[in-house]
Amino acid sequence: MTVFQGHEQVVFCADKASGLRAIIAIHSTALGPALGGTRFYPYADEDEALADVLELSRGMTYKNAMAGLDHGGGKAVIIGDPARDKSEVLLRAYGRFVQSLGGRYVTACDVGTYSPDMDYAARESRFVTGRTEAAGGAGDSSILTAFGVFQGMRAAAERVWGRPTLRGRRVGIQGVGKVGRRLADLLAEDGARLVICDVDPAATARVVAAHPMTTVVEGTAELLASELDVYAPCALGQALTDEVAATLDARIVCGGANNQLSHPGIEKVLAERGVLYAPDYVVNAGGVIQVADELEGFSMERARARAAGIFDTTRRIFELAERDAVPPAVAADRMAERRMSEVGQLRGIWL
Ligand code: NAD
Repeated sequence: MTVFQGHEQVVFCADKASGLRAIIAIHSTALGPALGGTRFYPYADEDEALADVLELSRGMTYKNAMAGLDHGGGKAVIIGDPARDKSEVLLRAYGRFVQSLGGRYVTACDVGTYSPDMDYAARESRFVTGRTEAAGGAGDSSILTAFGVFQGMRAAAERVWGRPTLRGRRVGIQGVGKVGRRLADLLAEDGARLVICDVDPAATARVVAAHPMTTVVEGTAELLASELDVYAPCALGQALTDEVAATLDARIVCGGANNQLSHPGIEKVLAERGVLYAPDYVVNAGGVIQVADELEGFSMERARARAAGIFDTTRRIFELAERDAVPPAVAADRMAERRMSEVGQLRGIWL
């Protein structure tokens, strides 16, 4: 079901010549121009695409607020199969629609889009980030996404085991694509033991080649059935279903995937069972921090320093959750909403 939740603006875009069909959703500009990636996905129909873009854009509002950025939340979806339908002309047509919003929405990569795609869109719009390094952009945002997830996981480890390290812990990663693979590198360096699964055998093979001690399991069910200290969902959304929440025996859930909770209330089940859930949009904000930095002239050093702050933010959320006796996901929402309301109010001051 499609749910509008106070979205400011939703734009349907169509260009017959290139076959472009896209929806841009601006959830909030309370903190600044809406920022969020473009998902290129073969949605069954427009209703499904609309539901997705509305939910994703709302999530970006919270993620950007929590990351301390001067950006509101937005997202776009292009309806189609990226392998078949993506072309220079389609991406440039899309760029022109982004430009038409005059900077109210700034786009970047998401599932199905990559930095070279943003280079095309940027030829038609100033409001595009996540471009290739060759074009002066921040490049692949999964570098700092994985780094941020690792910081969040360290904060969770400190909370549960008293020390901010994953040394000797068994971490199960679902999905070792761009983010999961880089997270595996950071964890291996920290001395964690890796258990991984992916639907793509080439993806698991890459991790094993880099870290030969890695255990590869058949799929998510087997991953969850193995003995894990930490579960890191890094594939698509909705990893935390009722069944997973009721049976998971890892002490921590912390991963890069967006929208991990399959419905509201799951966070409560996890908390009641003593599983510490590091809220997805808090720990996976490294990528948006990376691409937001590009808008100021990209500096990896500055962006990395900012993404390192995810450690303290996650820690603060766990403290607030304890103080207010609520699950961390609720504490995170409250913290983001407070920033939006307080900083958003400043915009009322006449300049
Ligand atoms: P990706 O497509 O590179 O990687 C996803 C991996 O998951 C792929 O290897 C895919 O084969 C695998 N996968 C898909 N379904 C699976 C399943 N059922 N079981 C196991 N593996 C499965 O994407 P990514 O950029 O690594 O993003 C991963 C997640 O992180 C997504 O939810 C994305 O929205 C989120 N995220 C990514 C970024 C970023 O900067 N890339 C930022 C924030 C959030």
